[in-house]
Parts: sequence; structure tokens; C-alpha cells
Amino acid sequence: MLEGGSKPEAGKPGKLVLHGIPVSRGVCRGRLFVLASPRTLQIDRRAISEADFAAEIQRLEEALILTRQQLLAVQERVTNGIGGDPQIFDAQLLVLDDPFLHDEVLNQMKREKVGIEFAFHEFCQRYLTTLSAVDDPYLSERAVDLRDVADRVLHNLLGQELPSDLSRLREPCIVVAYDLTPSQTATLDRRFVLGFATEQGSETSHTAILARSLQIPAVTGVAEALKHLRTGQYSLLDGFGGRLIVEPTDQTLFEFGQIERRQLAIQGRLREMKDEPATTLDGAHITLSANIEGPQEIADVQTHGAEGVGLFRTEYLFLNRPTPPGEETQFAAYREVAAALRPAPVIIRTLDLGGDKMPASPEGLTERNPFLGWRAIRICLQEKVMFKTQLRAILRASAFGNVKLMYPMISGLDELNQATALLEECKQELRAEGQPFNESLEVGVMIEIPSAVMIADSLARRVDFFSIGTNDLIQYSLAVDRLNPKIAQLYEPTHPAVVRLIKHTVDAARARGIWVGVCGEMAGEPVLAPLLIGLGADELSTAPGRVPGVKFMIRRLKRSEASELADFALGCEDGRAILDRCRALAESIAPSLFTE
Ligand code: PEP
Ligand code: MG
Repeated sequence: MLEGGSKPEAGKPGKLVLHGIPVSRGVCRGRLFVLASPRTLQIDRRAISEADFAAEIQRLEEALILTRQQLLAVQERVTNGIGGDPQIFDAQLLVLDDPFLHDEVLNQMKREKVGIEFAFHEFCQRYLTTLSAVDDPYLSERAVDLRDVADRVLHNLLGQELPSDLSRLREPCIVVAYDLTPSQTATLDRRFVLGFATEQGSETSHTAILARSLQIPAVTGVAEALKHLRTGQYSLLDGFGGRLIVEPTDQTLFEFGQIERRQLAIQGRLREMKDEPATTLDGAHITLSANIEGPQEIADVQTHGAEGVGLFRTEYLFLNRPTPPGEETQFAAYREVAAALRPAPVIIRTLDLGGDKMPASPEGLTERNPFLGWRAIRICLQEKVMFKTQLRAILRASAFGNVKLMYPMISGLDELNQATALLEECKQELRAEGQPFNESLEVGVMIEIPSAVMIADSLARRVDFFSIGTNDLIQYSLAVDRLNPKIAQLYEPTHPAVVRLIKHTVDAARARGIWVGVCGEMAGEPVLAPLLIGLGADELSTAPGRVPGVKFMIRRLKRSEASELADFALGCEDGRAILDRCRALAESIAPSLFTE
């Protein structure tokens, strides 16, 4: 949705307002850094008049100068040792100075009265077609140079950064993108990101989870963001209301300044109870843990008062590298976390690659339904060497702290039995090698596929704990892609089916005397935490930055209130009504959390 015009109008919050889904609370302001879509740039045939010619020519000149500066900078980096041949950039620089290109583009713009980016794109396409039709290795190389340079010029004309250029961030910016892949965000310098706005994604997409863990505002599902936004525009990102306001008015800045101050005050209060236990008013203790992606988050776990790690998403150690990390690299990472947090538990989840977490490799990209495809335990049971390497590393780390192991995406007993057999093999090997590990290491499974819920009684007989992955459980039970902003309204954590699936899981666990956690994003939502507690969750695990808010809620809650809420939800046929009841309880017991 779009609001606004070319100039800020009285009563409007800014020059332009784009709407999306608020997925990480907070407000930030700064310049935009607009990353182009890795798919395609959209180049419209924009009609212009003769009066526009001079301005269009000026845009082309500026884009060519900027491209020249960028190429010289890359060439210098290559010369100074990041690898590669600096001379290849000479050919690209020559393309920029080609008078033929310049004249042809201007002629087409004037002849057809079209925007300069369209004329430039058309010229390059024609030229590339001609070059590739000739079977000559020299000309093929020129085609590659032309394509690279043309791509850069077009991005500069459109005010967008190349999709892979996140490493160019040099000052704090609001990053705007079609979507952000885990491999892109892995290279991002987190000091320079004020917030995220993406066209794709929703509440549980990787970008949203990352933003919450960095505690920066984020808005996803911002339709046509790339079409309307340009690098350098001064903007305000509203992670409460789901808005991106370009060139906000003074009034808007003032209003949001007040919201920010209130937010800071709330955060200050939350920090004060960091060392208090997550215990309800009537004495029920809930284990409150953190979800992490690597040792770099150890300090976050401690400063936010989490009791340990309820989910260590190990796949992030595997992204952004050409080959999987070896046993020693993994062991070092797991041991570091386990030793630093000891005696607190650290639940290490085995590899959950797939879905939206794929390294930049072709296999993942060609899948039609990646969330239903080659993912997590399915990959591991096929790639046994890789899996055993990870199992060995986790087992070895268990000698240095309170490590527990957890398998993701278990859909049936067969997968669990196969994984158990491989774990047993690894234990035998380590014993034979004299490597220490915890012989009574606890093993659990994630309950995130409806079939796992239905056989939870059988699973409970074979494992030590369950952790409910609501992010996936919701998408698989409601058949709602967790990343698709068009159907985000159908992604309903309080859907009666979801409530009953959680209850079914808890009942099966209770019957076998094992504990149940929840590590999906639902667990980090203070409004929903009482429902999960009422349904019987023993542990809640969420991004470190969300732990204080959930703790605040728990410390104001009575177990009896949570049970009444769960009873209501289990008897209710309307997800909206369940959510309203959750909100009413949360707002009555912790009103100060909701002042914004
Ligand atoms: C989940 O599915 O709820 C979960 C915690 O795992 P992930 O988000 O990594 O799929
Ligand atoms: Mg999951």
C-alpha cells in the first residue's frame, strides 16, 4: 500500500509512506540502502517529454561517473590483495567511456521519448545479443564485461545497490531489499544496520527473526518497495505500525521521538529484572531460554537474563562457505557456547538447512517447494558423513557443559530411529578413540510437523524432551507459507487447530513424564506466552532480546489465569477470539508493556 506524493503535504507523515507487516518493534530513522532484487531489475518504459532530456542526460552522466568510481575502488581492493586480476576492470572501464554507447543511448532516448534507463537497457540488450551470436571467445568475454558494467550502471541509474553489495555498508542505514537471504545477512556488518524493510517475508521469515534478535525495527511485506525507494533517501521506519515514511515531516519526527523515549523507558525497566526468576505470582517456574545462531550471541544470552539456550540454530555455521565446516570448527563453536553458559543448558539443534536457509548453492534454488523438500533431518540422513561430523562435534562439546541435542523436522519414527543409530555409531567411535563426552546426553525432537504431533506418544517413549517449533507447525498445519506476505493474515498462531496441536503434544509428553518447550516465535510474544504456559509448556525459548518482555509478563501472571485462558482457547472455535482474550489478559496484567 502506498500513500503520499512528491512533496510532504500538511497532515501527511512524510513525502511517501509504504505499508507492510510490522515484525520487529521499534523505530529508527536514517538513510536508506536499497538492495536490488537478485531476481531482476524492473525497468519500466517510462514516457518523457523533450523538457526532460537534459535531466535524463545528467542522470546518465552521474551514473557513469559513480560506476567508474565503484569500479576503480574494486580494482584497488583487488590490487591490494583480495584476489583476482585487476586488469579485468580496465576492459569494463573502457566500456564506460565508449562514445558509441553514449551516442546510441541518447539517440534512442530522444527518438522514442523514453526514460534513460530504458534506453540504456535496450541498447545493452541489443549489443549483448549480437555479441553472443558470434562464436568467438574474445567477443564472449567482452559480452561478460558489458553485462557486468551494464548491471552496475542500471543499478546506479535506479538508485539501487547490487544485490551482493551489503558489504558496502559504511554507515548506519535502513536496509531495504526484496528479501534477505541468510547468506546475505551473514556478510552484513551489523553495526551499520538500523532496521530492515523487505518486500517479501512475514513474522517468521529469517529477516524478521534476525531483526528481533538484533533488536532493531523491521517491516516485511512492503509491496513495491524497490520500485519506490532509492538509496540515500532519509526515512523513518516504524516497526510498531509497519510503515516506512520517506522524508518524514518535523511533526512525524517529533511524534516518533516520543514513542522512542517511551520505548527506552520500558526497556530500562525490563533490564532491571534481568536477574529475577521467570516465576509466576503463584510460584510456578517457567524455564526461559534464548535462541541463538552462534557463539557471537553468548553475551546477549547473559545480558538479557535467559537461563540457557533453548535452540542453537547450527545451520548458520554452514552458510556462506563453500564446504560444510569440519568437526574441529564445529566442536570449537559448540564448546565455546557450552563452556561459557555452563551449568545452564544449551540445546544444540542439528542442521536445519533448507526452506529459506540454503547456502548459495544451486540445489536449494531449484526446488519447487523448498519447505516441503530437501530440508533438515532429510538432508542429514542422506548426507551421513556430514551428519556424523556434526553429531561427533556435539557429543564432544557435551564434555564441556550442559549440552542437549535436538533433531529438527522429525515427521516419523523411522527418521528418529535412523538418527539414533547414527548417534550410537558416533558414540562408539568416540569411546574407541578415548574422546570424552556425556554418556547420558539428553536427546529431544522438535515437534513442528503435524504428523509428529499425531505420533507424539511414540516419540515421547524414545526421547528426553520435546521442543515445539511453532513457526513450522503453524505453516504445515494451516498450509500457509510462513514467508509469503500475501497470506500473512492466514498465518494464525491462535488458530484453534494450532492450540489443540500444542495441547495434544503436551499431553503426550506428560503421559511419558518428559518436559516440553516451545522455541518458535510464538514463545517470544509476551501476549501469547500466557497461553503457552496455560497449555502446559515448561520452557519458552526466544531471541535474547525478547526474553525480558516475556519474563516481565510471566512475573505478573498467575498460573490459574494461564490455565483459564488455555481452557477458553481449547473450547473456542474462533482464532480471533482466542487472540483477543490473550490480549485482554496481557494488557490487564502488564499494561506498561503496551503503552505505544
Ligand atoms: C520453528 O519452526 O518454530 C523453529 C523454531 O525452527 P526454525 O524457525 O528454525 O524453522
Ligand atoms: Mg522449524
